[in-house]
Amino acid sequence: MTPRTEAVLEIAKSQPISPKFTPDVGSIYASNVFSLSMLEQRLPKAVYKKLAKTICDGARLDPDIADVVANAMKDWALEKGATHYTHWFQPMTGLTAEKHDAFLTPTGGGHMLNEFSGKMLIAGEPDASSFPSGGIRSTFEARGYTAWDPTVPAFVIGATLHIPTMFYSYSGEALDRKIPLMRSISALSRQALRILRLFGNTKATYVRPNVGPEQEYFLVDRRLAALRPDIMLAGRTLMGAAPAKGQEMEDHYFGAIPPRVMAFMQEVENALFELGIPAKTRHNEVAPGQFEIAPLYEDANMATDHNMLVMNLLRHIAARHDFVCLLHEKPFAGVNGSGKHNNWSISDSEGNNLLNPGSTPQDNAQFLVFLAAVLRAVHRHSAVLRLGTVGAGNDHRLGANEAPPAIISVYLGEQLAEVLDVIINGKHAMSHKKPFMEIGVSSLPPLPVDLSDRNRTSPFAFTGNKFEFRAVGSSQSIAPVNIALNAAMACALDDIATELEASVAGGASLNEALQTLLPRLFREDQAVVFNGNGYSSSWPVEAESRGLPNLATTVDALERYGDPDVMNVFLRQQVLSEREILARQEILLENYAKTVGIEGSLTLDMARTSVLPVALRAQAAAADAALKTKALAGEAGAEEALFRELRLHATGLAAAATTLEKALESLRGAEGALNAAHAARDVVLPAMQACRTHCDALEQIIDKAEWPLPSYAELLWMH
Ligand code: ADP
Ligand code: MG
Repeated sequence: MTPRTEAVLEIAKSQPISPKFTPDVGSIYASNVFSLSMLEQRLPKAVYKKLAKTICDGARLDPDIADVVANAMKDWALEKGATHYTHWFQPMTGLTAEKHDAFLTPTGGGHMLNEFSGKMLIAGEPDASSFPSGGIRSTFEARGYTAWDPTVPAFVIGATLHIPTMFYSYSGEALDRKIPLMRSISALSRQALRILRLFGNTKATYVRPNVGPEQEYFLVDRRLAALRPDIMLAGRTLMGAAPAKGQEMEDHYFGAIPPRVMAFMQEVENALFELGIPAKTRHNEVAPGQFEIAPLYEDANMATDHNMLVMNLLRHIAARHDFVCLLHEKPFAGVNGSGKHNNWSISDSEGNNLLNPGSTPQDNAQFLVFLAAVLRAVHRHSAVLRLGTVGAGNDHRLGANEAPPAIISVYLGEQLAEVLDVIINGKHAMSHKKPFMEIGVSSLPPLPVDLSDRNRTSPFAFTGNKFEFRAVGSSQSIAPVNIALNAAMACALDDIATELEASVAGGASLNEALQTLLPRLFREDQAVVFNGNGYSSSWPVEAESRGLPNLATTVDALERYGDPDVMNVFLRQQVLSEREILARQEILLENYAKTVGIEGSLTLDMARTSVLPVALRAQAAAADAALKTKALAGEAGAEEALFRELRLHATGLAAAATTLEKALESLRGAEGALNAAHAARDVVLPAMQACRTHCDALEQIIDKAEWPLPSYAELLWMH
């Protein structure tokens, strides 16, 4: 028996663990979080008030209260069994980072104290020289610093107190994704408040984006995954013939959750609940072995931290259930990949959703201004939004017929599109006898309530009171996409507010100003609205005639990062400085080239050391059989045909492997990140594909008992 068949039999015999249901979620919810109410219980009133002002209203943190807060935090963490603390941050690796320090401080004579001061809470200096900086840190000033983000709560995982922090360089530049995210949230708030003030809203103190990310993932049995170096090291299969049964029956989608998977999901959810992460929805996805988890939406900063934790926990807890959790965007060719739908809305400090059409004429007019801003943001800055979704993995999804294309358009639905039409053309009646509507504040009727959308082919769809950005990859942090969205939206609101403020200052009423501005804005940006089928082959052609960019690959998108119109979105709203932008471009290009390089090396290794030896043995056996059969029977049609086919693909694979080896050399020899990324995309990826074609052909003609790699059917269906 090969290790592969042994693993299959073992899985077939194993009994699933029973799920550990938690009947009273309330008793564990947020029990591992040092929440606002915990702060209130444990801090002196005056200190709590100051901190709450920072947390709720964004007031600057008073460093004098840090010692008191740190002490309360430490006492709480010790009660939770913590022995260590860590500044938890989100460097440009795309993952989270942590370095644990014990609270323990020896005091001499064999004694110790648990120590945690305000200084230790507020700032840290991890040895950060190995994190990507895109040239911001030269080695002589390689230091990176972490700074406490008090706006999201600290939490305990295992025996470690986690303190969410920002990560920045000696020269004060962002080395992470939290800093620009927080800057983008402030920018959006600043600009949106100007609009609210124009509408006479004096109460709102801030505006913030809310995000609900839907996370897709695959589960693969760990015993099978261990036999696939591609899954273990690249998180996806680099070869594998199509299974006899894939997703064509669509019987997996929303199907009964297998018991083993249920036990896993329940443990994940319990851990999420303890961390105060409101996991709400779980279900089977379209592909076999594919699942989804979606928490309720939260403010963008919290939602981003929480999504990073969701991904970490999915990966860690999977191992306890003998699964490997694949967050990769395309683990299996020919099977649906995984995305992350980023549901996004904005609300004011009073909790009003500004993307909600509302029921009064006043609300409707304000809604139309924010809608115009969204269209303007997506239309003018679509290259910026595309940058929020870049990554080698996501390239396999975008543009394939399962994910929205790389062209960023907006779906509004029929009814809202019609409202736009009426505003633009000044027509006074809607086609199917819908209520008549004018832009004048006083004459706006309530917008139709059911604006929900079931068009799954649009990358950016209005779903009633929020937009759903569907181009994000499953393994990606949602920070970049929300940074892009917030920054682009801030720019659009800035433009609109400036114009409205000038009209009003010039003596026009807001109503009059809107009557002129809205039709013009909608006319200018209508080209980005597309309610048709985003998967159809005619759409890219039409999109081109509308002037919408189609940045099909990560490299195409990243090349645009340094363009003045792209850079300016970040610069204008002080979200990123020029140096930070160029550093990010460099890091992402490097990351792309490295990812493809690793996949290329793995493909080469598997082709030469797993597939070719088996293929050559099979070929020799077929040759032997053909010769012997011919000697005995006078002809050996079947044996010879098999021999020829094996030889065709074995020879083809050997040649393709040599080409891939050269491709990898050219990647290693490329000068600079951009050239390396080009070599990866244009030379290495096609060479990998050529190898794969032969490997997959061989898999289909070689004795199953001899084939070393677990098959797609085994990986996808054994749960
Ligand atoms: P779907 O039909 O796409 O599954 P759901 O209504 O289940 O949509 O919501 C998916 C995600 O959108 C959830 O995380 C949900 O909390 C989030 N969501 C709902 N309303 C908003 C909103 N106003 N702003 C941001 N996210 C929201
Ligand atoms: Mg959705």
